[in-house]
Amino acid sequence: MAGSEQKAIQHPDAPVLTAGPAQAEAGGLLTIDLAAIVANWRLLAQRVAPAECAAVVKADAYGCGLEPVTKKLADAGCRTFFVALLSEARRVRLLGPKPRIFVLNGLVPGTASAFAEIDACPVIGSVPELQEWGAFVTANGWRGGAALHVDTGMNRLGLTSEEAARLAQRAAASAGQLKLLMTHFACSEQTGHPLNREQMQRFAELRTLFPGLPCSIANSSGIFWSAEAHADMVRPGIALYGGNPTPGQANPMRNVVHLQGRILRIREVPAGSSVGYGASWTARRATRVAIIAAGYGDGYLRASDGPSLREVVIAGRRCPLLGRVSMDLFAVDVTDTPAGEVSRDGFATLIGDGLDIDEVARQAGTISYEMLTNLGRRYARRYTGE
Ligand SMILES: *Cc1c(COP(=O)(O)O)cnc(C)c1O
Repeated sequence: MAGSEQKAIQHPDAPVLTAGPAQAEAGGLLTIDLAAIVANWRLLAQRVAPAECAAVVKADAYGCGLEPVTKKLADAGCRTFFVALLSEARRVRLLGPKPRIFVLNGLVPGTASAFAEIDACPVIGSVPELQEWGAFVTANGWRGGAALHVDTGMNRLGLTSEEAARLAQRAAASAGQLKLLMTHFACSEQTGHPLNREQMQRFAELRTLFPGLPCSIANSSGIFWSAEAHADMVRPGIALYGGNPTPGQANPMRNVVHLQGRILRIREVPAGSSVGYGASWTARRATRVAIIAAGYGDGYLRASDGPSLREVVIAGRRCPLLGRVSMDLFAVDVTDTPAGEVSRDGFATLIGDGLDIDEVARQAGTISYEMLTNLGRRYARRYTGE
């Protein structure tokens, strides 16, 4: 490891956790506000009380860092964490013995004993998983339990209504072994979508088959869709990290991620000259161009070859991207920025300063989830709000 690399450790003399390259050598600076994540969790927890508010920390807590985020939320009172994979569950368990852990992708063949070792619950999403888990539980007397995922319209994971009904009849198979009954919305961010209501109705019927079993339905947007979807526990992910769970309305969540890219140089491009790969953008006027040290190698997605409508913020002004995003660099138009306000020792804001994660994602032709989970490893990372 190069001498300039910082380990992901708490520096005794620095109040903030850091990771990645040293700030002075990095192309980009990524700041993650842990206090904002906690504030977001508290807002949701208050909204759904007396239902429990869990936290979804899969995919490295949506790119924000599984360990610092989970630790902070556990300290704030969050008792239940959802991850996608057993390997992620292990990382959560290393942080402490108390939190309940559910693994959304369920039981991969041969891993039942690993679930027991770390006291994590698989979210059982198919009949073969149910059989394998049942055999393990019977043979080992394991009492850690599992969640049952029932499908109500997503057609991804989850037992069909018929499969769930058959399971419910075999009382022995389910007695005491299930801790949670859950389903997942397909269209929760489209509040008017008829599938939401259909899914709620199907789930209401399925619930009656498992009397007394705690239930969970809502992701971030589901929490805002209807109080009916709060059930016994909610599973927010994106809203914790500042994504808007109420598209088309003001974002009730606090911004979490602030990302800056270093300005490497400024150059004058005469009218008629092009910028970047494929010569996809040609200057119509003499243009002052700033070259920024971030690209798709950092998860700043290249996305489309189409006309660019993407922006960054420099000195409080929106500046449009020019041409294609390349692996380590992209160009922006700073012709209208006063010369004194843009220089080689400065930074452009890629996320933050009024350019929120949903807008950045929309401009890149994607969603906040993809933008966040792609946040790169080359940024100098800093955690604030410790
Ligand atoms: C990822 C996931 C969530 C969290 O969804 P958000 O939209 O990020 O709030 C909840 N439930 C399940 C089953 C998931 O896969």
